[in-house]
Amino acid sequence: MMKNEYDVIVVGAGPAGSVAAQYAAREGVSVLMLEKDRDVGYPVRCAEAINRRTLIQFIEPDERWINATITKFAFIAPNGIEAVIDFKSIQGYVLERRIFDYELAKQAAADGAEVVTRAYVYDLLFDENETVTGVKVEYRGEQLEIKSKIVIAADGVESRVGKWAGLDTTVDFRDMEACFQVTAANVPVAQDTLYFYFGKKVSPGGYFWVFPKGENTANVGLGVSGAECKKRSSLSYLTENLNRLYPNASILTQIAGGVPCVTTPDKFIADGVMLTGDAARQVNPLSGGGIASGMVGGSIAGRIAGEAIKNNNMQHIYKYKEEWHQARGHMHERFDKFKDVIYDFTDEEFNKIMEKLRALPDEKRTIRKLFMIALANKPSLLVDVAKLFIV
Ligand SMILES: Cc1cc2nc3c(=O)[nH]c(=O)nc-3n(C[C@H](O)[C@H](O)[C@H](O)COP(=O)(O)OP(=O)(O)OC[C@H]3O[C@@H](n4cnc5c(N)ncnc54)[C@H](O)[C@@H]3O)c2cc1C
Repeated sequence: MMKNEYDVIVVGAGPAGSVAAQYAAREGVSVLMLEKDRDVGYPVRCAEAINRRTLIQFIEPDERWINATITKFAFIAPNGIEAVIDFKSIQGYVLERRIFDYELAKQAAADGAEVVTRAYVYDLLFDENETVTGVKVEYRGEQLEIKSKIVIAADGVESRVGKWAGLDTTVDFRDMEACFQVTAANVPVAQDTLYFYFGKKVSPGGYFWVFPKGENTANVGLGVSGAECKKRSSLSYLTENLNRLYPNASILTQIAGGVPCVTTPDKFIADGVMLTGDAARQVNPLSGGGIASGMVGGSIAGRIAGEAIKNNNMQHIYKYKEEWHQARGHMHERFDKFKDVIYDFTDEEFNKIMEKLRALPDEKRTIRKLFMIALANKPSLLVDVAKLFIV
Protein backbone atom coordinates (compact mmCIF):
# COMPACT_ATOMS: atom_id res chain seq x y z
CA MET A 1 0.00 0.00 0.00
CA MET A 2 1.40 3.38 -1.01
CA LYS A 3 2.38 5.72 1.81
CA ASN A 4 1.92 9.51 1.86
CA GLU A 5 5.61 10.21 1.85
CA TYR A 6 8.90 8.73 0.54
CA ASP A 7 12.49 9.91 0.35
CA VAL A 8 12.61 9.41 -3.44
CA ILE A 9 9.84 9.06 -6.01
CA VAL A 10 10.82 7.78 -9.46
CA VAL A 11 8.39 8.55 -12.28
CA GLY A 12 8.49 5.91 -15.04
CA ALA A 13 9.64 2.28 -14.89
CA GLY A 14 11.73 2.04 -18.08
CA PRO A 15 15.40 1.02 -17.82
CA ALA A 16 16.49 4.44 -16.52
CA GLY A 17 13.75 4.56 -13.87
CA SER A 18 14.23 1.02 -12.59
CA VAL A 19 17.98 1.41 -12.27
CA ALA A 20 17.54 4.82 -10.59
CA ALA A 21 15.08 3.28 -8.11
CA GLN A 22 17.42 0.38 -7.44
CA TYR A 23 20.48 2.56 -6.86
CA ALA A 24 18.58 4.95 -4.59
CA ALA A 25 17.14 2.05 -2.58
CA ARG A 26 20.61 0.59 -2.19
CA GLU A 27 21.58 3.75 -0.32
CA GLY A 28 19.02 2.76 2.30
CA VAL A 29 16.42 5.46 1.58
CA SER A 30 12.71 4.84 0.93
CA VAL A 31 11.82 4.73 -2.78
CA LEU A 32 8.55 4.61 -4.69
CA MET A 33 8.53 4.03 -8.48
CA LEU A 34 5.33 4.93 -10.33
CA GLU A 35 4.51 3.60 -13.81
CA LYS A 36 1.50 4.79 -15.76
CA ASP A 37 1.07 1.64 -17.89
CA ARG A 38 -0.51 -1.55 -16.69
CA ASP A 39 2.67 -3.58 -17.26
CA VAL A 40 6.30 -2.67 -16.81
CA GLY A 41 8.07 -3.12 -20.16
CA TYR A 42 5.01 -2.94 -22.38
CA PRO A 43 4.30 -1.49 -24.92
CA VAL A 44 7.81 -1.81 -26.35
CA ARG A 45 9.00 1.08 -28.49
CA CYS A 46 12.52 -0.05 -29.24
CA ALA A 47 14.73 -2.10 -31.57
CA GLU A 48 16.11 -3.68 -28.39
CA ALA A 49 19.85 -3.75 -29.17
CA ILE A 50 22.27 -3.12 -26.33
CA ASN A 51 26.01 -3.43 -25.83
CA ARG A 52 27.17 -6.14 -23.49
CA ARG A 53 29.84 -4.07 -21.74
CA THR A 54 27.31 -1.70 -20.21
CA LEU A 55 24.54 -4.22 -19.71
CA ILE A 56 26.61 -6.48 -17.46
CA GLN A 57 27.24 -3.61 -15.07
CA PHE A 58 23.55 -3.76 -14.19
CA ILE A 59 22.21 -7.25 -14.75
CA GLU A 60 23.49 -10.75 -15.42
CA PRO A 61 22.67 -11.78 -19.04
CA ASP A 62 19.85 -14.29 -19.04
CA GLU A 63 18.54 -16.24 -22.03
CA ARG A 64 14.96 -15.56 -20.92
CA TRP A 65 15.29 -11.99 -22.23
CA ILE A 66 17.94 -12.40 -24.91
CA ASN A 67 16.66 -12.97 -28.45
CA ALA A 68 20.01 -12.80 -30.23
CA THR A 69 23.69 -12.62 -29.30
CA ILE A 70 25.66 -10.25 -31.48
CA THR A 71 29.26 -10.67 -32.62
CA LYS A 72 29.14 -8.80 -35.96
CA PHE A 73 27.98 -5.49 -37.46
CA ALA A 74 27.16 -5.26 -41.17
CA PHE A 75 27.15 -1.83 -42.82
CA ILE A 76 25.40 -1.61 -46.16
CA ALA A 77 26.08 1.26 -48.54
CA PRO A 78 23.44 2.74 -50.88
CA ASN A 79 24.90 0.75 -53.79
CA GLY A 80 24.50 -2.50 -51.85
CA ILE A 81 28.16 -2.96 -50.86
CA GLU A 82 28.30 -4.65 -47.49
CA ALA A 83 31.21 -4.29 -45.06
CA VAL A 84 31.16 -6.57 -42.05
CA ILE A 85 33.02 -6.01 -38.82
CA ASP A 86 33.54 -9.32 -37.04
CA PHE A 87 34.39 -8.62 -33.41
CA LYS A 88 34.97 -12.32 -32.75
CA SER A 89 33.47 -11.87 -29.30
CA ILE A 90 30.08 -11.00 -27.88
CA GLN A 91 29.44 -7.30 -28.42
CA GLY A 92 25.83 -7.11 -27.45
CA TYR A 93 22.37 -8.54 -27.50
CA VAL A 94 18.95 -8.04 -28.99
CA LEU A 95 16.67 -8.07 -25.98
CA GLU A 96 13.11 -9.08 -25.29
CA ARG A 97 12.35 -5.82 -23.52
CA ARG A 98 8.99 -6.92 -22.19
CA ILE A 99 10.89 -9.31 -19.95
CA PHE A 100 14.08 -7.31 -19.59
CA ASP A 101 12.38 -4.14 -18.29
CA TYR A 102 10.29 -6.27 -15.97
CA GLU A 103 13.43 -7.92 -14.55
CA LEU A 104 15.07 -4.54 -13.95
CA ALA A 105 11.97 -3.42 -12.01
CA LYS A 106 12.09 -6.67 -10.03
CA GLN A 107 15.73 -5.96 -9.15
CA ALA A 108 14.72 -2.51 -7.89
CA ALA A 109 11.97 -4.08 -5.80
CA ALA A 110 14.35 -6.71 -4.45
CA ASP A 111 16.65 -3.92 -3.28
CA GLY A 112 13.78 -2.25 -1.42
CA ALA A 113 11.98 0.06 -3.89
CA GLU A 114 8.18 -0.05 -3.96
CA VAL A 115 6.85 -0.38 -7.51
CA VAL A 116 3.29 0.58 -8.50
CA THR A 117 1.86 0.30 -12.03
CA ARG A 118 -1.23 2.01 -13.47
CA ALA A 119 -0.17 5.06 -11.49
CA TYR A 120 -0.19 8.15 -13.69
CA VAL A 121 1.76 11.16 -12.41
CA TYR A 122 -0.09 14.24 -13.66
CA ASP A 123 1.66 17.05 -11.80
CA LEU A 124 4.30 17.97 -9.24
CA LEU A 125 4.07 19.40 -5.73
CA PHE A 126 6.13 22.48 -4.87
CA ASP A 127 6.90 24.37 -1.67
CA GLU A 128 6.96 28.18 -1.36
CA ASN A 129 10.57 28.25 -2.71
CA GLU A 130 9.59 26.44 -5.90
CA THR A 131 11.39 23.31 -4.71
CA VAL A 132 9.75 20.09 -5.91
CA THR A 133 8.32 18.25 -2.91
CA GLY A 134 6.43 15.33 -4.45
CA VAL A 135 3.94 14.30 -7.12
CA LYS A 136 0.25 14.25 -7.85
CA VAL A 137 -0.83 10.85 -9.07
CA GLU A 138 -3.98 9.22 -10.39
CA TYR A 139 -4.34 5.76 -9.00
CA ARG A 140 -7.38 3.48 -9.05
CA GLY A 141 -9.73 6.36 -9.72
CA GLU A 142 -8.30 8.58 -6.98
CA GLN A 143 -6.11 11.67 -7.16
CA LEU A 144 -3.37 11.39 -4.54
CA GLU A 145 -0.61 13.71 -3.38
CA ILE A 146 2.56 11.90 -2.37
CA LYS A 147 5.45 13.82 -0.85
CA SER A 148 9.14 13.17 -1.39
CA LYS A 149 12.48 14.82 -0.80
CA ILE A 150 13.54 14.13 -4.39
CA VAL A 151 11.64 13.25 -7.57
CA ILE A 152 13.59 11.42 -10.28
CA ALA A 153 11.89 11.91 -13.63
CA ALA A 154 12.47 8.87 -15.87
CA ASP A 155 9.30 9.42 -17.88
CA GLY A 156 10.84 8.89 -21.31
CA VAL A 157 11.10 10.87 -24.51
CA GLU A 158 7.77 12.65 -24.04
CA SER A 159 8.70 13.62 -20.47
CA ARG A 160 6.43 16.18 -18.89
CA VAL A 161 7.91 16.16 -15.41
CA GLY A 162 10.92 18.20 -16.52
CA LYS A 163 8.66 20.83 -18.07
CA TRP A 164 6.49 21.05 -14.96
CA ALA A 165 9.71 21.64 -12.99
CA GLY A 166 10.63 24.50 -15.35
CA LEU A 167 13.48 22.65 -17.10
CA ASP A 168 13.81 23.29 -20.81
CA THR A 169 14.24 19.91 -22.52
CA THR A 170 12.92 21.00 -25.90
CA VAL A 171 14.49 19.17 -28.82
CA ASP A 172 14.80 20.89 -32.18
CA PHE A 173 12.62 18.97 -34.65
CA ARG A 174 15.69 18.37 -36.85
CA ASP A 175 17.31 16.37 -34.03
CA MET A 176 14.25 14.29 -33.23
CA GLU A 177 14.57 11.07 -35.25
CA ALA A 178 11.16 9.90 -36.40
CA CYS A 179 11.28 6.12 -36.12
CA PHE A 180 9.02 3.43 -37.42
CA GLN A 181 9.62 -0.24 -36.79
CA VAL A 182 8.02 -3.60 -37.35
CA THR A 183 8.85 -6.92 -35.80
CA ALA A 184 8.50 -9.25 -38.74
CA ALA A 185 8.61 -12.97 -39.45
CA ASN A 186 10.01 -14.45 -42.67
CA VAL A 187 13.08 -12.23 -42.42
CA PRO A 188 16.00 -14.61 -43.00
CA VAL A 189 19.01 -12.91 -41.41
CA ALA A 190 22.08 -14.12 -39.54
CA GLN A 191 21.31 -14.24 -35.84
CA ASP A 192 24.73 -12.91 -34.79
CA THR A 193 24.70 -9.71 -36.86
CA LEU A 194 23.19 -6.22 -36.58
CA TYR A 195 22.54 -4.77 -40.05
CA PHE A 196 22.75 -1.02 -40.69
CA TYR A 197 21.73 0.42 -44.08
CA PHE A 198 22.60 3.97 -45.13
CA GLY A 199 21.60 6.29 -47.93
CA LYS A 200 19.36 9.15 -48.90
CA LYS A 201 16.77 6.84 -50.43
CA VAL A 202 16.97 4.36 -47.57
CA SER A 203 16.79 6.53 -44.49
CA PRO A 204 17.85 10.17 -44.90
CA GLY A 205 19.46 11.68 -41.82
CA GLY A 206 19.44 8.31 -40.06
CA TYR A 207 19.72 4.63 -40.82
CA PHE A 208 17.62 1.58 -41.56
CA TRP A 209 18.18 -1.36 -39.23
CA VAL A 210 17.55 -5.08 -39.26
CA PHE A 211 18.19 -6.59 -35.83
CA PRO A 212 17.70 -10.37 -35.47
CA LYS A 213 15.16 -11.54 -32.94
CA GLY A 214 15.23 -15.31 -33.18
CA GLU A 215 15.03 -17.58 -36.21
CA ASN A 216 13.59 -15.87 -39.28
CA THR A 217 12.37 -12.95 -37.19
CA ALA A 218 13.78 -9.44 -36.84
CA ASN A 219 13.13 -5.91 -35.70
CA VAL A 220 13.16 -3.96 -38.96
CA GLY A 221 12.93 -0.22 -38.72
CA LEU A 222 14.43 3.16 -39.37
CA GLY A 223 14.94 6.61 -38.07
CA VAL A 224 14.54 9.58 -40.39
CA SER A 225 15.65 13.03 -39.29
CA GLY A 226 12.81 15.35 -38.30
CA ALA A 227 13.64 17.69 -41.20
CA GLU A 228 13.36 14.88 -43.77
CA CYS A 229 10.16 13.33 -42.49
CA LYS A 230 8.38 16.61 -43.10
CA LYS A 231 8.78 15.78 -46.78
CA ARG A 232 8.13 12.05 -46.64
CA SER A 233 7.10 9.87 -43.72
CA SER A 234 9.34 7.30 -42.08
CA LEU A 235 6.60 4.71 -42.62
CA SER A 236 6.77 5.19 -46.36
CA TYR A 237 10.59 4.69 -46.34
CA LEU A 238 10.15 1.60 -44.19
CA THR A 239 7.53 0.07 -46.47
CA GLU A 240 9.72 0.62 -49.51
CA ASN A 241 12.82 -0.91 -47.86
CA LEU A 242 10.85 -3.84 -46.49
CA ASN A 243 9.24 -4.63 -49.84
CA ARG A 244 12.61 -4.47 -51.58
CA LEU A 245 14.59 -6.56 -49.07
CA TYR A 246 12.01 -8.88 -47.51
CA PRO A 247 8.94 -9.09 -49.76
CA ASN A 248 7.65 -12.13 -47.83
CA ALA A 249 7.87 -10.47 -44.41
CA SER A 250 4.88 -10.93 -42.13
CA ILE A 251 4.30 -8.10 -39.70
CA LEU A 252 3.87 -9.17 -36.08
CA THR A 253 4.01 -5.76 -34.36
CA GLN A 254 4.47 -2.19 -35.47
CA ILE A 255 5.52 0.88 -33.54
CA ALA A 256 6.35 4.51 -34.10
CA GLY A 257 8.32 6.76 -31.81
CA GLY A 258 10.77 9.60 -31.53
CA VAL A 259 14.38 9.43 -30.45
CA PRO A 260 15.99 12.66 -29.19
CA CYS A 261 19.38 12.58 -30.93
CA VAL A 262 20.91 15.48 -29.03
CA THR A 263 23.25 16.09 -26.16
CA THR A 264 21.93 16.44 -22.62
CA PRO A 265 20.57 19.95 -22.00
CA ASP A 266 22.45 22.37 -19.82
CA LYS A 267 19.92 22.03 -17.00
CA PHE A 268 18.44 18.65 -16.15
CA ILE A 269 18.40 19.12 -12.38
CA ALA A 270 16.39 21.60 -10.33
CA ASP A 271 15.72 21.88 -6.60
CA GLY A 272 14.11 18.57 -5.59
CA VAL A 273 14.10 17.02 -9.08
CA MET A 274 16.53 15.15 -11.34
CA LEU A 275 15.85 13.97 -14.89
CA THR A 276 17.27 10.76 -16.30
CA GLY A 277 17.20 8.55 -19.41
CA ASP A 278 15.32 9.87 -22.46
CA ALA A 279 13.70 12.49 -20.22
CA ALA A 280 17.19 14.00 -19.74
CA ARG A 281 18.08 13.41 -23.42
CA GLN A 282 20.78 10.91 -22.42
CA VAL A 283 20.50 8.94 -25.68
CA ASN A 284 23.64 8.38 -27.76
CA PRO A 285 22.97 11.02 -30.45
CA LEU A 286 24.74 9.10 -33.22
CA SER A 287 23.26 5.62 -32.78
CA GLY A 288 19.99 6.61 -31.11
CA GLY A 289 20.64 3.94 -28.46
CA GLY A 290 19.26 4.93 -25.08
CA ILE A 291 18.86 1.75 -23.03
CA ALA A 292 22.46 1.48 -21.85
CA SER A 293 23.04 5.20 -21.42
CA GLY A 294 19.68 5.52 -19.62
CA MET A 295 20.78 2.86 -17.16
CA VAL A 296 24.09 4.66 -16.62
CA GLY A 297 22.26 7.97 -16.08
CA GLY A 298 19.71 6.31 -13.81
CA SER A 299 22.38 4.67 -11.67
CA ILE A 300 24.14 7.99 -11.11
CA ALA A 301 20.90 9.86 -10.41
CA GLY A 302 19.64 7.18 -8.00
CA ARG A 303 22.87 6.89 -6.05
CA ILE A 304 23.34 10.65 -5.77
CA ALA A 305 19.72 11.13 -4.66
CA GLY A 306 20.28 8.51 -1.94
CA GLU A 307 23.52 10.18 -0.83
CA ALA A 308 21.88 13.61 -0.71
CA ILE A 309 19.14 12.32 1.57
CA LYS A 310 21.47 10.34 3.81
CA ASN A 311 23.74 13.36 4.24
CA ASN A 312 20.82 15.76 4.48
CA ASN A 313 22.41 17.91 1.78
CA MET A 314 19.94 18.54 -1.02
CA GLN A 315 22.43 20.61 -3.02
CA HIS A 316 24.41 17.39 -3.51
CA ILE A 317 22.00 16.43 -6.34
CA TYR A 318 23.73 19.02 -8.56
CA LYS A 319 26.81 16.71 -8.56
CA TYR A 320 24.84 14.50 -10.94
CA LYS A 321 25.56 16.84 -13.84
CA GLU A 322 29.33 16.51 -13.50
CA GLU A 323 29.21 12.76 -12.95
CA TRP A 324 26.97 12.25 -15.98
CA HIS A 325 29.30 14.37 -18.08
CA GLN A 326 32.29 12.24 -17.08
CA ALA A 327 30.46 8.93 -17.51
CA ARG A 328 28.77 9.55 -20.87
CA GLY A 329 28.01 13.20 -21.54
CA HIS A 330 31.44 14.08 -22.93
CA MET A 331 31.29 11.07 -25.27
CA HIS A 332 27.84 12.06 -26.48
CA GLU A 333 29.15 15.53 -27.33
CA ARG A 334 31.70 13.92 -29.65
CA PHE A 335 29.12 11.58 -31.19
CA ASP A 336 26.88 14.57 -31.77
CA LYS A 337 29.59 16.24 -33.85
CA PHE A 338 30.12 13.04 -35.87
CA LYS A 339 26.39 12.76 -36.42
CA ASP A 340 26.20 16.12 -38.13
CA VAL A 341 28.89 15.09 -40.60
CA ILE A 342 27.93 11.44 -41.15
CA TYR A 343 24.21 11.94 -41.77
CA ASP A 344 25.07 14.63 -44.27
CA PHE A 345 27.09 12.30 -46.52
CA THR A 346 25.96 11.84 -50.08
CA ASP A 347 25.24 8.31 -51.31
CA GLU A 348 28.52 8.45 -53.24
CA GLU A 349 30.43 9.19 -50.04
CA PHE A 350 28.73 6.33 -48.19
CA ASN A 351 29.61 3.99 -51.08
CA LYS A 352 33.28 4.99 -50.93
CA ILE A 353 33.47 4.58 -47.14
CA MET A 354 32.04 1.06 -47.26
CA GLU A 355 34.29 0.13 -50.18
CA LYS A 356 37.34 1.25 -48.21
CA LEU A 357 36.22 -0.58 -45.10
CA ARG A 358 35.50 -3.74 -47.04
CA ALA A 359 38.90 -3.64 -48.71
CA LEU A 360 40.66 -3.91 -45.34
CA PRO A 361 41.76 -7.29 -44.05
CA ASP A 362 39.35 -8.81 -41.58
CA GLU A 363 41.42 -8.01 -38.48
CA LYS A 364 41.82 -4.34 -39.43
CA ARG A 365 38.08 -3.76 -39.89
CA THR A 366 37.11 -2.09 -36.62
CA ILE A 367 34.65 0.60 -35.53
CA ARG A 368 37.55 2.96 -34.88
CA LYS A 369 38.82 2.39 -38.42
CA LEU A 370 35.33 3.02 -39.78
CA PHE A 371 35.20 6.40 -38.06
CA MET A 372 38.74 7.21 -39.24
CA ILE A 373 37.73 6.50 -42.85
CA ALA A 374 34.41 8.33 -42.58
CA LEU A 375 35.88 11.44 -40.99
CA ALA A 376 39.17 11.50 -42.90
CA ASN A 377 38.24 14.82 -44.49
CA LYS A 378 37.59 16.42 -41.11
CA PRO A 379 40.96 16.44 -39.32
CA SER A 380 39.49 18.28 -36.33
CA LEU A 381 37.08 15.39 -35.73
CA LEU A 382 39.81 12.78 -36.05
CA VAL A 383 41.15 14.04 -32.73
CA ASP A 384 37.73 13.35 -31.22
CA VAL A 385 37.74 9.87 -32.73
CA ALA A 386 41.17 9.21 -31.23
CA LYS A 387 40.02 10.43 -27.81
CA LEU A 388 36.94 8.25 -27.93
CA PHE A 389 38.80 5.10 -28.71
CA ILE A 390 41.82 5.54 -26.45
CA VAL A 391 40.71 3.50 -23.48
C1 LIG B 1 11.79 2.75 -32.77
C2 LIG B 1 12.82 2.87 -31.69
C3 LIG B 1 13.92 2.00 -31.68
C4 LIG B 1 14.87 2.09 -30.68
N1 LIG B 1 15.89 1.18 -30.66
C5 LIG B 1 16.80 1.20 -29.66
C6 LIG B 1 17.82 0.21 -29.60
O1 LIG B 1 17.91 -0.72 -30.42
N2 LIG B 1 18.72 0.29 -28.58
C7 LIG B 1 18.66 1.27 -27.64
O2 LIG B 1 19.52 1.29 -26.75
N3 LIG B 1 17.70 2.22 -27.69
C8 LIG B 1 16.76 2.20 -28.66
N4 LIG B 1 15.76 3.13 -28.67
C9 LIG B 1 15.70 4.13 -27.60
C10 LIG B 1 15.23 3.48 -26.31
O3 LIG B 1 14.00 2.81 -26.53
C11 LIG B 1 15.08 4.53 -25.21
O4 LIG B 1 16.22 5.35 -25.20
C12 LIG B 1 14.92 3.89 -23.83
O5 LIG B 1 13.72 3.14 -23.74
C13 LIG B 1 14.89 5.01 -22.76
O6 LIG B 1 14.64 4.47 -21.50
P1 LIG B 1 13.90 5.37 -20.40
O7 LIG B 1 13.85 4.52 -19.17
O8 LIG B 1 14.55 6.70 -20.33
O9 LIG B 1 12.45 5.63 -20.97
P2 LIG B 1 11.29 4.63 -21.39
O10 LIG B 1 11.83 3.27 -21.67
O11 LIG B 1 10.53 5.32 -22.46
O12 LIG B 1 10.40 4.54 -20.08
C14 LIG B 1 9.65 5.64 -19.62
C15 LIG B 1 8.55 5.09 -18.77
O13 LIG B 1 7.87 6.17 -18.11
C16 LIG B 1 6.47 5.92 -18.11
N5 LIG B 1 5.81 7.21 -17.93
C17 LIG B 1 5.80 8.26 -18.80
N6 LIG B 1 5.07 9.28 -18.30
C18 LIG B 1 4.62 8.88 -17.06
C19 LIG B 1 3.81 9.49 -16.07
N7 LIG B 1 3.37 10.74 -16.23
N8 LIG B 1 3.53 8.79 -14.95
C20 LIG B 1 3.99 7.52 -14.77
N9 LIG B 1 4.77 6.88 -15.70
C21 LIG B 1 5.08 7.55 -16.83
C22 LIG B 1 6.24 5.27 -19.46
O14 LIG B 1 5.03 4.54 -19.48
C23 LIG B 1 7.47 4.38 -19.60
O15 LIG B 1 7.26 3.09 -19.07
C24 LIG B 1 14.77 3.08 -29.67
C25 LIG B 1 13.68 3.96 -29.67
C26 LIG B 1 12.72 3.86 -30.67
C27 LIG B 1 11.55 4.80 -30.66
